Amino acid sequence: MRFPVVELSECIRCGVCEEVCPEVFHLTDSGYVQVADLAEYPEESVKEAIKNCPADCIYWTE
Ligand code: SF4
Repeated sequence: MRFPVVELSECIRCGVCEEVCPEVFHLTDSGYVQVADLAEYPEESVKEAIKNCPADCIYWTE
């Protein structure tokens, strides 16, 4: 199964991923993006988040 990963060293903490795909991405109070631990990820909305991330730091991994 593949799952989304955020490269935190490049993330600018804009919150777009959470706006687009809140079921997967969450900007924590301490200011980093947490990826939900799901059995299956919503392909389309993760793709949207990847496409809209201004820092290009979300990607799929196996
Ligand atoms: S959209 Fe990209 S840069 Fe913005 S908070 Fe999410 S992972 Fe970070």
